[in-house]
Amino acid sequence: MPQRLFTASQVLPGPCGQRIPDGAVLVDDATITEIGTREAVERLAADDVVRQDFPGSTILPGLINCHVHLVFDPGQDPVAGVHDVSEADLLERMARHARQLLDAGVTTVRDLGDRDGLAIRLRDRVNAGELPGPRIVAAGPPITVPQGHCWFLGGEADGERELRDRVRRTAALGADLIKVMVSGGSITPNSPAMWASQFTPAELRTIVEEASAAGLPVAAHAHGTEAIAAAVDAGVTTIEHCTWLRDGGGGYDTRDDVAERMAGRGIHACVAWPPDWPGFLDRFGRERAALIIDRFRWMNRVGIPLIPGTDAGLGHSPFTEFAGALGLYEHVGFPRERIIEMATVVSAGALGLDGKTGRLATCHSADLLVVPGDPLTDLGVLGRQESLVVRGQTWKPAAASS
Ligand SMILES: [Zn+2]
Repeated sequence: MPQRLFTASQVLPGPCGQRIPDGAVLVDDATITEIGTREAVERLAADDVVRQDFPGSTILPGLINCHVHLVFDPGQDPVAGVHDVSEADLLERMARHARQLLDAGVTTVRDLGDRDGLAIRLRDRVNAGELPGPRIVAAGPPITVPQGHCWFLGGEADGERELRDRVRRTAALGADLIKVMVSGGSITPNSPAMWASQFTPAELRTIVEEASAAGLPVAAHAHGTEAIAAAVDAGVTTIEHCTWLRDGGGGYDTRDDVAERMAGRGIHACVAWPPDWPGFLDRFGRERAALIIDRFRWMNRVGIPLIPGTDAGLGHSPFTEFAGALGLYEHVGFPRERIIEMATVVSAGALGLDGKTGRLATCHSADLLVVPGDPLTDLGVLGRQESLVVRGQTWKPAAASS
């Protein structure tokens, strides 16, 4: 494949403060080989370079959605939707969701819970070039207690021996990380309450110990404050939802001691709110919504790194949209350039992909999103891709090809 040169009115390499007016990116196969001003990069390009110019547009790194479930169909009952469905049908559904993520400008996604390791299989097929899709970081079936949150995905384990065995089996499936349901959740009938811890602190330490023996990080689903505290002490890598829900569900805590430990250890929080976050806030009511927004600001003040994800697949969180979810952080008060950094550079770091993707830099994967105008003045343009390159391959969005 000849070299390809992409130029635009501005290039945002990813980190806050970096902006190249009249910039360009040079791509060789699947890798970025040069980035800089158009003039400088043009001089370095081969004579037969294939160029694509995007005047009036911005080139930035492909976006990273840190929390999805490819196996669930949005709007469907999650339990019924995966229970009696054949593996072939589920894989077909997941491949469709992977294409939709590309349509939304997402070039890397973390799947935090599938059935039978199907997201791992999809990942391998995407990696082999058999199917289009973003880079998939897959957790396999989440670990839970018998009849616990999301038990129907097949990750139940009871007691230390079974937990160790479950982690080993998930690693053997080829998982990139371990997902553990530290607290209950909202989608599983008759399972522990959202704020209740499903595991003892000792059991959590066992899971993290066994995962790190296999070289795997741990993502912890935790709504309750005690569940969050135990996950932090056990040494997990990320906390999902991180709701700080008080026992009984009647309010929210701000535990500075726990938050400071979390920040000190660089444990990321992914609150995983959907693109329709205003609808989410409405459902909570004004008073509770204000408390929730305050808690986001508090986590940020304490120094907890936040990463965006949408929990796509659940409720009404579609795979077709990601940019809308970033508006939540603007509502909370984050500057736009910081939000872009969170959805690219910071997320890549949290997923262990530093140096591979998440920024436009030499030797990084050619994961490029081209959007009209300037996302630094309007984040909404992130949802209107003009072009997407994933690992060097240009994606043809469904709307353009139909
Ligand atoms: Zn989830």
